[in-house]
Amino acid sequence: SKVYLNGEWLKPEEAKISVFDRGFLFGDGIYEVIPFYSGKLFLLKEHLQRLRYSLNEVELQCDISDFESIILKAIELTELNAADGAIYIQVSRGMAPRTHYFPENYDATVLVYAYKTNLRGFQNQFKDVLVSNDLRWHRCDIKSVSLMANILANTEAKKSDFSENIMIRDGYFTEGSHSSLFFVKDESVYTHPNGKFILPGITRNLLIKLCKENNIVIVEKALPVSELDEVTEVFITGTTTQITAIKNLHFPDRIINFGNDIGKVTRRLQLLFCEEVKKRTGV
Ligand code: PMP
Repeated sequence: SKVYLNGEWLKPEEAKISVFDRGFLFGDGIYEVIPFYSGKLFLLKEHLQRLRYSLNEVELQCDISDFESIILKAIELTELNAADGAIYIQVSRGMAPRTHYFPENYDATVLVYAYKTNLRGFQNQFKDVLVSNDLRWHRCDIKSVSLMANILANTEAKKSDFSENIMIRDGYFTEGSHSSLFFVKDESVYTHPNGKFILPGITRNLLIKLCKENNIVIVEKALPVSELDEVTEVFITGTTTQITAIKNLHFPDRIINFGNDIGKVTRRLQLLFCEEVKKRTGV
């Protein structure tokens, strides 16, 4: 397998960056993760558009016009043409003497690689998650590699054997450490509105579209923790999470259960999602 680093295709162990790379020194970088099913990319344009948005928001100069061909080549060189997996892309503000302000001249550091991952079987999962405080900054709409708050919270979840945590900011649920968050209440689907407090999830956006096309009421409104007792189903979405149903929410002082089986709205959306994958990738 080969990774792309600054114009070269290298063996992973040979791909190296400078200790003065701002991605390393400051977490001054942007990333993106794009799924592929049987080697066929899913929602590529949408992911590249979000990458462009994030780069733009932090004024990180990088020409991404050749990224599509780099991505295709990464799948090929890793021999994943028939496999399920994902592309990881990271762009950092290159190498410069360490100052907080942006250097005047720099060459962005670009890393792209493909890896195999399991994208099947999410319909059989009914998971528990930890509920944590959202300690992130106020620009969660930027897909920054500075993920300290996310990794601290997710490590707490992992200590209890949960793969994800969902977060609360000022009394409202926001999202997961690496997934978007949805609730079902009165047969309607609720999710936090886009803005500075969540990442505009690509899977989230697709799900909203699927709701609208299928006459499922979708409300982009943050759910206050105080209304949790009216909620009948909870699920999380993401590129590799896809649509995962949540069985129990673990608060520090209580556990809230959502039944012994995946709810019917979640099930329906999982089926619609699978149909959409088939339609767009042909597999
Ligand atoms: N929120 C956060 C904080 C994430 O890290 C992710 C995963 N990238 C998501 C939501 C889900 O986004 P997507 O559907 O684009 O993978």
